Amino acid sequence: MGSVMNSSIVWPCAALPSAELAPRTTLKVGGRVEWLVEPKTPEELVAAVQTARENDLEVRVLGGGANLLIVPEELPGCVISTELLNRTFRSTDLEDGDELTGGEAPLHRVAPSDIRDDPRLVVWAGARLQGLVNTSCKLGLRGAELLSGVPGHVGGALAMNAGSRDWGLWDQVERVWLLDPDSGEVVEKMRSECAPSYRNGNLKGHIALGCVLHFEPENKVLIKQEADDYLRAKCAAQPVTQRSAGCIWKNPDPELSDGRGAGKLVDDLGFTGHELGGAQVSPMHGNFVVNAGGATGAEMLALIEDVEARVAEATGVKLQREVCVWN
Ligand SMILES: Cc1cc2nc3c(=O)[nH]c(=O)nc-3n(C[C@H](O)[C@H](O)[C@H](O)COP(=O)(O)OP(=O)(O)OC[C@H]3O[C@@H](n4cnc5c(N)ncnc54)[C@H](O)[C@@H]3O)c2cc1C
Repeated sequence: MGSVMNSSIVWPCAALPSAELAPRTTLKVGGRVEWLVEPKTPEELVAAVQTARENDLEVRVLGGGANLLIVPEELPGCVISTELLNRTFRSTDLEDGDELTGGEAPLHRVAPSDIRDDPRLVVWAGARLQGLVNTSCKLGLRGAELLSGVPGHVGGALAMNAGSRDWGLWDQVERVWLLDPDSGEVVEKMRSECAPSYRNGNLKGHIALGCVLHFEPENKVLIKQEADDYLRAKCAAQPVTQRSAGCIWKNPDPELSDGRGAGKLVDDLGFTGHELGGAQVSPMHGNFVVNAGGATGAEMLALIEDVEARVAEATGVKLQREVCVWN
């Protein structure tokens, strides 16, 4: 799509004024944003951020909205969605210092070689995590199977270092392209230059445009089996069919919590099933606060804060949030 013009702003890509955000989150909670902008290439995203900067608009990035609680009914500024940046490529011949833009840009290259000779994938920020799991299973690549059943986009997963307790997406990252929204500069960083940790991609306010992931060649049937087993276990333990943002809290240091995860701390309070308006602590898993029907952002946040206060009072543990809150 070409430029979109409003009375005062010309965007370099598709853009919607006064856009509803709730349908774009897995919680189905959230108000309207002044502008929702949808670039379809990394270059358009960079240009859109520049337009926002020139117009003094605050910039937020939205992936799959699977780890997000949006509280206000009206959000000023612009939300850049990675919805249309859903691309995964095979990669070869990547050299250190390859640029994001230009005719031979690595984020646009397609590899001819046997995947076992170069078991890497180039993924844009909007690549779906389930697409990544499916692709890696089909190609016989080990490395993404623990994301089976995890909703969202690769950019959001880089920001969150999404994964399991002992593994996160960053374990597979070779290099990443990051945009500094303040300066407009795009930098390429190797994994060794970043310091991701448990559920924290440490992006320091940068926007992830894409990355190169490395995998291990593996038997396709075996990998698919492992992904399916993981998905089955997840479905048995978590309220995956309800409107949630996944786990609300990070698991605390086991030494401080007698080895109990955040969900177990909430379970032990006897607080599961507790409701506030349409928000509910999932009866199935204490670390999930779900939208049981018509919850507002304010109700969700109030229930989350209530749980945090009760856990702190009962155990002394200060729960750290995994969910991102736009307030
Ligand atoms: C049913 C369910 C199960 C889940 N299970 C798991 C699980 O097992 N493990 C796990 O880790 N998570 C899990 N989650 C949480 C969620 O799926 C992950 O955190 C996922 O990585 C979020 O990605 P997203 O694209 O939806 O991010 P969003 O929710 O859109 O964004 C999350 C944060 O990342 C920022 N962000 C998004 N894109 C970018 C970008 N390109 N650059 C910079 N910042 C960006 C946003 O601004 C926001 O602060 C689960 C969620 C649900 C609903």
